[in-house]
Amino acid sequence: MIKLLCLCFYNINSQMKSFKPEIFRQQFPLVVNNDGTTLPVNGISQIGSSPLLVYFDNGATTQKPHCVIDSYHTFYQADNANVHRASHALSARATTAFEHARNTVKTFINAKSNKEIIWTKGTTEGINLIAMSLGRKILKSGDEIILALSEHHANIVPWQLIAEQTGAVIKTVTLDAMGRVDMLVFQQLLNCKTKVICCAHLSNVIGKINPINELIKKAKSVGAITVIDGAQAVAHFPIDVQSLDCDFYAFSAHKMYGPTGLGVLYGKQSLLDNMPPYQGGGEMIKQVSFNTPTTFNSLPFKFEAGTPNIAGVIAFNKAIEFISAYDAKQIHGYEKQLTIYCYQALQNLKVSSKKVVEFIVPGLPDIPVICFTLNDHHNHDIATALDSYGIAIRSGHHCAMPLMEYLNISGCLRISLAAYNTFEEIDYFIACLTKILWQENEISLACTNKNENIDQNVKNVQATTIIMTQFAAIKGWDSRHRQIMLLGKQLNRLDKNYRNAQTLISGCESLAWLIAQKNNHNVFHFQADSDAKIIRGLLVIVLAAFNDKTAAQIQAFDIENYFKSLGLIQHLSPSRGSGILAIVEKITGITQEY
Ligand code: PMP
Repeated sequence: MIKLLCLCFYNINSQMKSFKPEIFRQQFPLVVNNDGTTLPVNGISQIGSSPLLVYFDNGATTQKPHCVIDSYHTFYQADNANVHRASHALSARATTAFEHARNTVKTFINAKSNKEIIWTKGTTEGINLIAMSLGRKILKSGDEIILALSEHHANIVPWQLIAEQTGAVIKTVTLDAMGRVDMLVFQQLLNCKTKVICCAHLSNVIGKINPINELIKKAKSVGAITVIDGAQAVAHFPIDVQSLDCDFYAFSAHKMYGPTGLGVLYGKQSLLDNMPPYQGGGEMIKQVSFNTPTTFNSLPFKFEAGTPNIAGVIAFNKAIEFISAYDAKQIHGYEKQLTIYCYQALQNLKVSSKKVVEFIVPGLPDIPVICFTLNDHHNHDIATALDSYGIAIRSGHHCAMPLMEYLNISGCLRISLAAYNTFEEIDYFIACLTKILWQENEISLACTNKNENIDQNVKNVQATTIIMTQFAAIKGWDSRHRQIMLLGKQLNRLDKNYRNAQTLISGCESLAWLIAQKNNHNVFHFQADSDAKIIRGLLVIVLAAFNDKTAAQIQAFDIENYFKSLGLIQHLSPSRGSGILAIVEKITGITQEY
C-alpha cells in the first residue's frame, strides 16, 4: 500500500482548506457512515478489512456531500416558493438564492455575465438546446457539422436530428494514436461549409483532454460555432470559458458532487441574444397575446421555460462552494496519484503469468477514467461479478457506440474515480478482480456434469425444480455466481445466422438474441444466446421456466418468485444492465400476441 504522499505539493490560499483525502471522504455519507465505517451494499461479506461499497462509477454520477443533501432539506423546510413570480417574501428569498447560484456558476467558469448562464436539465439538454435553437436557425442544406468520433451520444444524436431536418451533413474526426481528436484530420475536414464544431473537452471513455484550444482557434478561422461538451471536465479541473473562447460549453451538476437533473449551458451573449427560444411557457415570455406576436424575455430567462429545478440549483450552489473551498491543484494531484496507481495495478495484473488487461487506447488518461477490456472475458460478466463484492464499475458502450465501433469492440469496462476514493479501495478492487478471473478460468475448465444438463431435461416439466434444487444446496453469492456460469456452459449456442437484428433483444448492455417457435399443440419453445457468460447462465434459468409451455402456462408462471427463491432477484431489477428483464418481457410479450 502506498501512502498518501501527494498532499502538500502546492502552496495554497490561506482561505482554502487543505485537501486531506480521508477528511474529504467523510463528507460523503453514501461512501462512509458517520462513524467512519462503510455501508454494506449487497450484504456480502468483506475480504479482510476492506470496505463494502467501492464506488468507481463517478463518470456516470458522483456521490453527494452532506452540504448538498442538507441543502434540499433546508430549502423545502424553510424557503420553498416559486422563483421570479410572486411578490411575497418567501418567493423573494427563493429567487435571491436561485440567482445567487447563477452568479456562483458564472464566477466558477469565468463567464462574462450571468446572462450567459442558462439552467438546463443537464449536458444533454444543453446540447439539444443549441442544436434545436441555433442549429435550426443557421443550418441549411449542404452545411457541415464536425463531430469528434469519440463523442457521447448526447453530442451526436441532437446533431443527427437537426441534420435530418435541415439537410446539413455530419463529418466525423477520427482520433490520433493516443485517443485524442486528430488535429490533422480535423484540419482536412474544416472548410467554409463548416458551420458547427462539437467536441468533448474529454471523452467519458478515453479520459484524455482533447486539443480544444487549437480546435476553437481553427474553428474561428472559418467562422464556425464551437460547442464543447464539458460533462467530464468540470469535475476534475477549473474551466475558464473566456480563456477557452468557445461559443458554448455544456455540463451537468451531478458529475461534480451536485444534484441530478440539473445542468448549465454557457453561451456567448451575442449568440444567445440572436437565438430563438427552445421551449415555450413560463418565465421565457415578455408578452403573450392572440392579437399581436408573442414576445420573449431577456437572457437568460428566454431559455428557461417552466418552473426550474429550484432546490437543485440552490443545492448546486453548495456543491460549487464545497469544491471551491479546496485548492483544485491539490485535488487534481491526488486524483492523478489514484489514476497512476490504478492504471499500473491493472497493467501488471496477471493470471497464469499472463497479462490480462488491454487498455482501449495507449497511455495514461488525464482524468481518473480508465477503460479496458479483459482477454476472453465479457465486460458484463466482470462488472456483475465485481458488484457482488460491493464494487460499482461500469460496463458496456458508455453511450459512445460509434467509438466502440471505431475501436472494434462491443464494449469495455470503465473505472472512474473521484477525490473521495482511496488507494485501499483500488487494492481491494484488484484483489477481487484477480479472484474473479481465477474463478472464471476455473469455471471454463470445469467439466459439465451430464446428469445436471438442463437442456437434456428441458422436455421434463421439472426443469425449474432441478435448478431450484441445485441452488438450494448453495450458500453465498460466490457459489451462486459460479453455478450461473456453469449453467451458461450448458446453453446450446445459436448459429451465427440467427444472431441478427430481428432476434436481437433491445435493453441488454450485452448482446442477447431470442428465437421463438410454437408447435401444433400451441406449445412454445425458445432458444436464446448472449455474448456474456452470465447472461447465458441466466438464460438457461429463464428458459427452464418458459420452455415447452403454452401461452397460458407462461403467463401464469411467477418468474419473480422463482428468481427470488434462487437468490437472484436483483437480476430482474429494471436498473440492471443485464437485460434479463428485457428477455422475460420479450417472451411474455410474444406469447401474449398469440
Ligand atoms: N457528455 C459526456 C461526455 C458525458 O459523460 C455525459 C454523461 N455520461 C453526458 C454528455 C450526458 O450528461 P447528462 O446525462 O448529465 O445530460
